[in-house]
Amino acid sequence: MKITKVEPIILYAQDPSMQGEANVGGYTGYQLIVRVDTDEGIHGWGEACVGSENGEAAYAVKELIDRGITPRIKGENPVEYRRLWEQLYEATYWYGRRGLATYAMSAIDTALVDIAGKAFGIPACQVLGGQYKKEIPLYASLLFDMDDPEATAKKGEKYAKLGYFGTKFGWGMIPSKPFGADFKKDEEMVATIREGIGPNTKLMIDVGRYVNWSVPYAVKMGKMVEKYDAFWFEEALPQDDLNGYAELARSLDVPVAHGEELYTVYDFNEVLKKKAADLWQPDASKVGGMSEMKRVIELARINNIMWVPHNWSTAVNTAASLHLSVSSPDGFLCEFKQEPNVLVHDLAKRPFRVENGKMQVPSEPGLGLEINEKVLSKVRLDR
Ligand SMILES: [Mg+2]
Repeated sequence: MKITKVEPIILYAQDPSMQGEANVGGYTGYQLIVRVDTDEGIHGWGEACVGSENGEAAYAVKELIDRGITPRIKGENPVEYRRLWEQLYEATYWYGRRGLATYAMSAIDTALVDIAGKAFGIPACQVLGGQYKKEIPLYASLLFDMDDPEATAKKGEKYAKLGYFGTKFGWGMIPSKPFGADFKKDEEMVATIREGIGPNTKLMIDVGRYVNWSVPYAVKMGKMVEKYDAFWFEEALPQDDLNGYAELARSLDVPVAHGEELYTVYDFNEVLKKKAADLWQPDASKVGGMSEMKRVIELARINNIMWVPHNWSTAVNTAASLHLSVSSPDGFLCEFKQEPNVLVHDLAKRPFRVENGKMQVPSEPGLGLEINEKVLSKVRLDR
């Protein structure tokens, strides 16, 4: 089998879960998926997470794929996805290893794993070593409305009632009114949510990028969320402060989580050496694709570290997260964005099957994902 065509497709759809200014500077409505075709009529899908204010990351990744990656993998056997990954890692020596180059490689790698599954007639999780589970518990990923603790708690209650493992609340729907700016308001928010979801649903707190704390304040906030039995405390410090994360992890009982901003197994190896997180959150659409994320998962396993895939972008990454989670004995939870979003909920022809708060692994080969061409034609920017 040979790769014949590589088509990066820039998508755009407004994200209704974030209001106005919240769409600036982070996860805007831009995303990129790639379709890789072969001479045997099999094709695969992959995703690069390309959040950027003006779509610059999406266009840059498309260029990297068109000019850099496609000529290197055309004619190659897609089933040798790992050899091709190493080849591309070497080819991006001068500008890669993190950021855009890793996004581009992520999309390609996941598409090749999808193709391998379809070629062998097995689900992607089996391509990656085996299927340990038929379903995986979910947590609902939600945002704080700092103006309205009751309404925020109500969002969580809905998923607690549906049997979700947990609910995670992040940063704030409006950047100028973030979680973390006012201790009293923050504690009132966490207390209201805990009361709403009850004692049996896990509660995760995601601080995010709208506030910049140093270690002592992060410790103070961490001790506060511990009082409400938080299951993890996410991105409480700036991304590059690994020494600060190590100090935070030593100071708190609640597991300190981050990793959505880390690239390849090498970044996670640094986090490991510094003991800078208790729970890792690699994102398949950024870290280097499914096969690279599998390496991160193996590193976590041999060092007895919890991990949960980060997933906030499209249906392709949701499917990738699902297969990765069940491809290891340690996968115990998946992130599922709940707010209405066409790229997560409508881009795939078959909706994700969720029963009692658990997502079922599709039995179709590869990612088990069929892209809805009608929806795709509406959200692709080159339409
Ligand atoms: Mg996060």
